[in-house]
Amino acid sequence: MERIALIKCSEYRVNLIEEKLREGFELLGGDIYLRKLIPHNSKVLLKPNLLSVEKIGSPVVTNNVVFEAVIKILKDYTNNISFGDSPGFGDSKRAAEKCGLMEVANKYGVKFENFNEAVHVKLENSILCKSWNVAKAAYEADVVISLPKLKTHAMAYYTGAIKNQFGCVPGTQKAAWHTRMPDAHNFCKMLLDLNTVIGTDFAILDGIIAMQGNGPKNGRPYKLNSLILGESLSAVDSVAVRLIGYDDPLDTPVLKEVYDSNWGAVLPKDIEILGEDIDNMKVNDFELCRKGGDFYFINPRVTNFLRNMIAPYPFLIEDKCINCSRCMQVCPENPKAISMVNKNGKMYPEWNMKQCIRCFCCQELCPVGAIETKHSTLGKLLGYND
Ligand code: SF4
Ligand code: SF4
Repeated sequence: MERIALIKCSEYRVNLIEEKLREGFELLGGDIYLRKLIPHNSKVLLKPNLLSVEKIGSPVVTNNVVFEAVIKILKDYTNNISFGDSPGFGDSKRAAEKCGLMEVANKYGVKFENFNEAVHVKLENSILCKSWNVAKAAYEADVVISLPKLKTHAMAYYTGAIKNQFGCVPGTQKAAWHTRMPDAHNFCKMLLDLNTVIGTDFAILDGIIAMQGNGPKNGRPYKLNSLILGESLSAVDSVAVRLIGYDDPLDTPVLKEVYDSNWGAVLPKDIEILGEDIDNMKVNDFELCRKGGDFYFINPRVTNFLRNMIAPYPFLIEDKCINCSRCMQVCPENPKAISMVNKNGKMYPEWNMKQCIRCFCCQELCPVGAIETKHSTLGKLLGYND
């Protein structure tokens, strides 16, 4: 039985969040628990979500106030803390500066790692992927703590503790993983192997203000008032998805793969929730990315032909497009799947759905939310609604 702490917290104030997180750690075992998790002066790597360059308080990235509260607690156990991420597009240092994490890090002597340096490692007994290039700073840390935001995600439906660690793959190598794993099942298995390679030890999920709808970058904020802490990343994610409206956590692709691979705890019977009663914290008006049970994910052997007819696809909201071509630049199947075409003197993206692997990197990283996901008519007839 995995134990996680579910804590109610409704404001981003450092002292309040520190108090709430200490409450959570107390439930998990207090000082003895923390001493075991963080041996004296061990090398701790914090992995926030720095998806893109965003201003302070943006629901796209890990909140700077949560970041500060976590550091204040860890400082009781170690003086050797660093943080880093490798965003999907752009410069991680700039992203850390803009959202306030760098200022907090400087205040507490926390070192910034840009994750540019990689190490090559082998993973024996992997679920799928044996050979890895991962950020050296994450691989060599004694303790790795994932600090995700709770958000919707077009491909994975939801992103939290497990998916957050994809940023430990340096820079453009992330696109290569999408190409190598065009099937969502395999992509999710890859994420599990990645967390095994990195050895992620703990997750503190920021769901105080979560992101709903067209996430993980262009959705709308949702005040969920929740912090979730635990050693089991899958248990943390399982509780998170139940909070936002998935009655069955297996309706989300990553957790389905966790369950099928026996990688961690997912089912409610295998997770002890300390702190708040989950039934009092669940919400029923959170706008999910996908309702779950999608044909695309349920049938791994579905043919490409059927997949193309049923799977959701990226859809351009032309009025919003600023013609920047970032969607094409981040596409792992560029230029086969997406190209820029001239329409009335302006360049707009155009998709070739036969080549598109539905990774939704273009939707994820469009700076202005001009790409949404839609289901085909056949998909809608089968009950998969946008
Ligand atoms: S869809 Fe988004 S990323 Fe693509 S060109 Fe338009 S604004 Fe840029
Ligand atoms: S067009 Fe978009 S969804 Fe399709 S492969 Fe490229 S980035 Fe992925």
